[in-house]
Amino acid sequence: MAVIGALKLLQAQEAKDQTLKLLFALQDGQTVETVILPYDSGDSACLSTQVGCKMGCAFCASGMPGFIRNLVQEEIMAQLLAVRRIEQARGRQLKNLVLMGSGEPLDNRDEVFAFLQAVGDPERLGMSLRHVTISTAGLVPGILEVAAKKLPLNLAVSLHAADNELRSRLMPVNRKYPVEELVAACDQYTALTGRRVTYEYILLDKINDRPEHARRLTGLLRGKLCHVNLIPLNPVAELPYKPSPPECVKAFAAVLKEAGLNVTIRRRLGSDIAAACGQLRNLFCGDQIEG
Ligand code: SF4
Repeated sequence: MAVIGALKLLQAQEAKDQTLKLLFALQDGQTVETVILPYDSGDSACLSTQVGCKMGCAFCASGMPGFIRNLVQEEIMAQLLAVRRIEQARGRQLKNLVLMGSGEPLDNRDEVFAFLQAVGDPERLGMSLRHVTISTAGLVPGILEVAAKKLPLNLAVSLHAADNELRSRLMPVNRKYPVEELVAACDQYTALTGRRVTYEYILLDKINDRPEHARRLTGLLRGKLCHVNLIPLNPVAELPYKPSPPECVKAFAAVLKEAGLNVTIRRRLGSDIAAACGQLRNLFCGDQIEG
């Protein structure tokens, strides 16, 4: 097993489309996943910020074993350094970072902000924070803190439903921070930074992918400085959700476009490997799934 900096590479899986999924052991034996996503314009690395996750999103493999611990900034940085070495070795270029892997980055703010400071520091990595995205399940105090810092970061919010009843079922965090409060925090972020928010929306067959769901979403976001990213689900064997059929995805996007929203349909990457966030770790640590 290769040792890269403070991490031990336990497993690497490369998909046909060159998505590369890495499973690292930390010094205390816990494991985290890091994923490299291939794009023509430069690859993105999806870094983990926690071992496991507290958020309990219904469609997610990462949250299944529950929360174990926060990563410290050095462990987040070690993933980035390992990715840079691997990318160099395979002749590819890393361009963007997304803090989304396993864990909720805004639930580990001190370590995440310290990591970001090191990333942007010209004496250390000197990477522009314009190439970094924080992806959150919707922790409102964290969004407000990011807004107040006025960093040139990108903010992505996992929305997945525009009404509280459905969103609370899919994402328990919504019971604490309902949709209206979440969107108001995102508006505050836009007002303070002048930056648009990306709303991520995973389309789940017959759950949140019907025209009425699209209309509710347009009602919530119309006129805002935002972008909607529609994501076809990477199914998780242990969970009951299925990806929306392509015709539903297209119809959903059409409703949003007609209302003047900025929409993209994300390409599904790595679908021939255990590509949904958390799956590789769960496969490797089968005992933790059951526990
Ligand atoms: S989707 Fe993200 S926030 Fe939700 S349980 Fe999975 S890792 Fe946590």
